[in-house]
This record gives sequence, structure tokens and C-alpha cells, in this order.
Amino acid sequence: MRHERIPLILLTGFLGSGKTTLLNQLVQLPEFSRTLVIINEFGETSLDHLLVSKSSDDQIVELSSGCICCTIRGDLAKTLSDATWRFARNGVRQFDRVVIETTGLAEPTPILQIISNTPKLYDSYRMQGTVTVVDAVNGAGTLATHPEAQKQVAVADLLLLSKSDLATQAQETETREAMLLLNPTAPVQLVLQGQTQVDEILALDHAEPVQSTAPLHSWLPTEQLRFAPVSGKQGLLRADQSSAAPADLNRHNDRIRAYCYVLEHPVTAAQIDQWLDALMPELGPQLLRLKAILNVVGFPGPLVVHAVQHLLHPAGLLKEWPDEDRRCKLVFITDNLSAERLEQSLQLLQ
Ligand SMILES: [Zn+2]
Repeated sequence: MRHERIPLILLTGFLGSGKTTLLNQLVQLPEFSRTLVIINEFGETSLDHLLVSKSSDDQIVELSSGCICCTIRGDLAKTLSDATWRFARNGVRQFDRVVIETTGLAEPTPILQIISNTPKLYDSYRMQGTVTVVDAVNGAGTLATHPEAQKQVAVADLLLLSKSDLATQAQETETREAMLLLNPTAPVQLVLQGQTQVDEILALDHAEPVQSTAPLHSWLPTEQLRFAPVSGKQGLLRADQSSAAPADLNRHNDRIRAYCYVLEHPVTAAQIDQWLDALMPELGPQLLRLKAILNVVGFPGPLVVHAVQHLLHPAGLLKEWPDEDRRCKLVFITDNLSAERLEQSLQLLQ
């Protein structure tokens, strides 16, 4: 019997981004009624969380003795592992979804790793997506100076832009540009007065993003990526997303970069296997995210490849292409990885 894993949403965002306000809104919606909420409020004011607790007090866990991304990872693993019986009545689990709210300074990747690297948790929980809240007023400044905030944006499946009603047009534009540099693939949705459209959050499907051509466009929004030929190699085009940025935007920390590549020609299945076998163990830790749509010789539709660090999700083979563009497109979001090193690995696809 095939058992359904419980979808898990990671809600993150820097200090003051408004993620708790958003969580307060979410937990009161009928769509989130059977949700187990895990709050990590270490080092932050817990005032905001009073409201969350009131709305569904029997399905809230507060972890407050440390930070779940570094000091109390074991507590998080135990909480998730115990939750299926701890929040059950007469043997029936009382929740259908988990939302984990991190602290403002947490890095999401170690939390994602706990779930993917612990067989018991991986068997019970399915990562539905990372939702990162970014404040439109201070976002550009925060992203220029805080590596934690950069990583939160870099690994997001969905970016929520908060406080845009309080931001000037210039502030909002700068924040959007800063987000685009770090993560050109995640859709951006506005949060207005703490309210957001929940459909996009509920529709997230991180691990198996693509079953048909319909969601392919939002999964890899190629129209907002900048591609420019910089490499002399046959058929390989690269655009470093940072190259068009204002010079000082990444002044303090330019470790995290997004690179987009286009390959003009189809590749063989053997080439892809060889490339991934070499790429994942070697560059996995520096690869925050890989999203690729590949044209494979002999197949009518594209192969969709998705990896988060060392974790390569099962590739999806689509029946048909969404449009006329049949080129291979690859987007890498990297931490401290040079374009030269990446391009060396891409030689295997040449
Ligand atoms: Zn931490």
C-alpha cells in the first residue's frame, strides 16, 4: 500500500520581515485547519506568537531552547518523529500538514537536510516547499548585509514580498532586484497588510515539481532570467545574474550567486547520468539549488532535473514541451562556487 507522506512547509524570513504576522493569518484559514505548527522562537519576541497559539492551541509546538538550524536540530527531528502519535486521537493523526516557522536568523538548508537525511522523517514527511518572506522596505539592505537572509531567499520555492504598501517604489524595486539576483526562479507574491493568497503556498510541490507542462513555467520562469553569451564554448551561453546588478548591491557578501545556462543542442541520457554522477558528490555542498529543463536525444518531451545541495530529486520526463523553445536551460543557485568550476562540469554535456 502506498502511503502518503505529510506535506511540510518551511516558513522563513529575516528578523522583522513579517513572517509571524503571515503565520497568524494562515493558521486561521480553513485551508490550514489541520496543520501542525512548529515555532522556533529562540531569541525573538514571543509576543507575536501569542496569537498563533490562541488560534489552534492543541496543534502548536514551540521550540525555544535554541535554534533549529544549528543548536537544537535533534529537538526538531524528535518533534517531527513523535508528532504522528503525539497529535493523534484514537490512533488517528489529527493533522494533515506541518508548517515550521524558523527564527529570523536561521539558515533553511540544515533544516531541509534533517528531513531528507533522516530516513524515518523522510518516510513520513514530504517537503512541500520553502516560503521566504522578504520585507519590501528593508529587504535590499538586509540582503546586502546578512548572509542568513541571502540563503533564505536563495533556497525559497516561493518568495513573499511583505510591507510593499509601506515601501517606496524605489525600495520595492531594489528589493525585487536583490531577490532576483539570489533566486531568479522563485515566483514573487505580494503580502498586503499581512494577507496573502494561500493558493500558491498550497500548490507548492518542491520534490516533484513537474508532472505536466502546466506548472513548468512557474517552476522555471525563463522569461525573467537573463541569458547572455559570455562563453566561447560551442552552444553554451551563460548569464551571471549578478553582472547586471548595481555595483554595490553585493558588496559585503557575494558568495551566493545564480547562474543561468542555455545549451543549444540536445544531450544524451548517458551524458546526463555522467554529469550528475560527477556534479552531485563534488559540488553538492555548494549547490543550493539546481533546476534544469533538458532536451534529451530520443525523447519527445523535456527531462526536468531538480536538486537541493547533494539531494537530487527524481527526474521528471514530460510528454511534451510547453512551447517552441527546445533548448536545454539550467539554473544554478550557488554558494561560493565559481562560474569556471561550474562550466568545467558542464563540459560533460558538450
Ligand atoms: Zn541556527
